[in-house]
Amino acid sequence: MKKILVLTEVELPSDFPRQVEHYLGNLVQVEMRRTDFEGLKSQFRDVRRGQIRADVLLDYLEPRVRGYEGFDKVVLVINDDGYVEGLNFVFGVAKMSGSLALVFTKRLRGEQSLYQLRILKEVLHELGHSFGLDHCTDPRCVMYFSNTIEDTDRKGPGYCQRCMAKLRSLLR
Ligand SMILES: [Zn+2]
Ligand SMILES: [Zn+2]
Repeated sequence: MKKILVLTEVELPSDFPRQVEHYLGNLVQVEMRRTDFEGLKSQFRDVRRGQIRADVLLDYLEPRVRGYEGFDKVVLVINDDGYVEGLNFVFGVAKMSGSLALVFTKRLRGEQSLYQLRILKEVLHELGHSFGLDHCTDPRCVMYFSNTIEDTDRKGPGYCQRCMAKLRSLLR
């Protein structure tokens, strides 16, 4: 069974790992730890934009987390705003079939339970990429590309039948 480590700067419900496991068909094992990324973030912040260079941080960390403590995937939930060249912002980034996913929560903020649900969706979305899933055309599917927070609120947290079937074969 694939092992996932969630490192979060944001307070998440204690059953958050169980929720991630549930939506991934109980085909993964999830552990969560509270931390902060202040030192790391300061090195990757674009001072002019005030945002984190998400792609540069991903490239830097990806080889460093590979095989970390025996985990197959590491997810960083970063209480900040991220962007990649050519985009005003990103909710998250992950490489296709990579071992690292980053989620940026600044633009997900809202009332506590809504905020945590949005984070769950973005974590599941980026994990989907890290397991090899592409974007989905179904606006209700968590793998649908979110251009706006309304897209995020409309979708997921579940995967559509097609994405789930693909996930099951990828996670086998
Ligand atoms: Zn995506
Ligand atoms: Zn789908």
